[in-house]
Order: sequence, then C-alpha cells, then structure tokens
Amino acid sequence: MQKVGDVELHALSDGFFGLDGGAMFGIVPRTAWEKKLPADDCHRVRLSLNPLLIRAAGKNILVDGGIGERPDPKFRTNYAIARRRTLPDCLKAMGLGPEDIDIVFPSHLHFDHAGWLTSRQPGGGHAPTFPKATVVVQEGTWEEALEENPRTRGSFIETDFLPLEGRVKIVRGAEEILPGVWVEGTSGHVKHHQIVRIRSKGRQAVYFGDLLPTTAHLRPAWVMGYDVYPKEVAALKVRLVKQAVDEEWLVCLDHDPKSAMVRFVPDGKDVKAVEVEGVAA
Ligand SMILES: [Zn+2]
Repeated sequence: MQKVGDVELHALSDGFFGLDGGAMFGIVPRTAWEKKLPADDCHRVRLSLNPLLIRAAGKNILVDGGIGERPDPKFRTNYAIARRRTLPDCLKAMGLGPEDIDIVFPSHLHFDHAGWLTSRQPGGGHAPTFPKATVVVQEGTWEEALEENPRTRGSFIETDFLPLEGRVKIVRGAEEILPGVWVEGTSGHVKHHQIVRIRSKGRQAVYFGDLLPTTAHLRPAWVMGYDVYPKEVAALKVRLVKQAVDEEWLVCLDHDPKSAMVRFVPDGKDVKAVEVEGVAA
C-alpha cells in the first residue's frame, strides 16, 4: 500500500494474460521490443492485470475491473490467462466484499479492463458485480464501445458493460469525484479513455490506464497497434512523462508484468522507471 497525502492506493491483481507483441508495440520492430518484453511460442508478450483500489474520504474506489471470469476455455487459451487469484480474491483478502465498493473508474471498456464489472448469474445473464457502485466514465464511452467499427469491435464484450446502465455517472474531461481524486479524459488509446489522478497534500499519483501500460512503453513512439489515435497517445506521453519526472509522481501501471507502481526518473537524456511496488499477483 502507498499513501499519497490522505489517500491510500492498494495495488490489486487479476493475474496475467498475453497479447500479440507486435500489436502491443505498433511500428516498433520486434528486434527492439523483444529485448524488453520477450514473446512466447505464439508471439504473445506476458502482461499483468493490475486494477487499483483507492481509499479516500471513507470510500472504496476500484480503478479498472481486470479481465474477469471468462470461463470459455478457448478464450482463456487464446489470451493465455494465468492466475493464482482473481480481483475478487484480492478484495476479499483485504476484507472487502462486492458491496463494499462505492465507485468504479474503468479507464475504458476493453475486455481486459471491464471483466469483473459484471458477473454471470446462476440463472443466466449478467449483473453488476459491485451492487452499490456508481460507475464513472467519460461521455461517449458507451457509444464508442457499441460502435460498428470492424477494427475495434473485438476489444469489447457487451455483457461486461450493458448490465451497468442506470448506475453510470458521465463526466466530460477532468472532474474531481472525491476530495483529491480526479478522473481526466485522455483521448488516444480509445477516444474516451480516462486516467485517474490523486492530488493530496502536495503529492500526486496517476493511474495511466492503457495510455502507458508498461515501462516498455515509456518512449513516446512506443505506442500500441490497438491505439485508435496513436499520434495523440505519443503527444500525451511527451507531456505527462515530463511532468511525472519533474513533480515526482507515483505512477500506477495497468499491464507491467513486474511493477504495479513506479517513479519515472531521469536517465541521461532518457527516462527510466524505478519500482515502488511490485505486481500483487
Ligand atoms: Zn485497452
């Protein structure tokens, strides 16, 4: 657990999965990215699933919902899902049940971020996993997830988010949801992606979501093939990584296979990541 002013940040885990290394690094040649994240026999790189629990103002806020139960064996094999414990297991280990989550911030609704936002019901169908939680998303998130776009269609699974309708709070851009706890729209990975900022007592932490998923994505041009607007992602990284170094932010990474929380520090002309807390798997 890390404290940023009055706010507690707990790294959680939903285990590991694998995505195609080429797709994770866009135009970067394999000879370069492979040195940072080696590929398996199916050309996949191993990634973690690192949701975050924020405790602030007496509330429990879950940031991202992991990859979910996904009982389909083909899905589990294709995405190399491997875990000792799930996101609900992690919450339980902290003494938290589903009804204890007050707010959920999905960075976006891709299936590896919205997995546990709903759960299969014994009688069939899906219902919200966290029955009392308000789900905070950027305006346009729903529409984008339902868009008939052949290039992005495969990243969304409707049962992850359609059952949440009626409990969603829509925000535009940056908004303070609880004292010191902000969401902020960062178009690029998807049009309505959001990051989470904690500002408390002069300290700052940022959960980057898929804007900067692993330490291997630190360089601005190392952006994902999945990104809808790669140019915007690269420009945002130039600005935010510099600020993270200058202002010594605690940086939370959603998919880094080793580190859940890091600080970015100067390394000659470059920037490198120094681990603050390892993945909680
Ligand atoms: Zn994504």
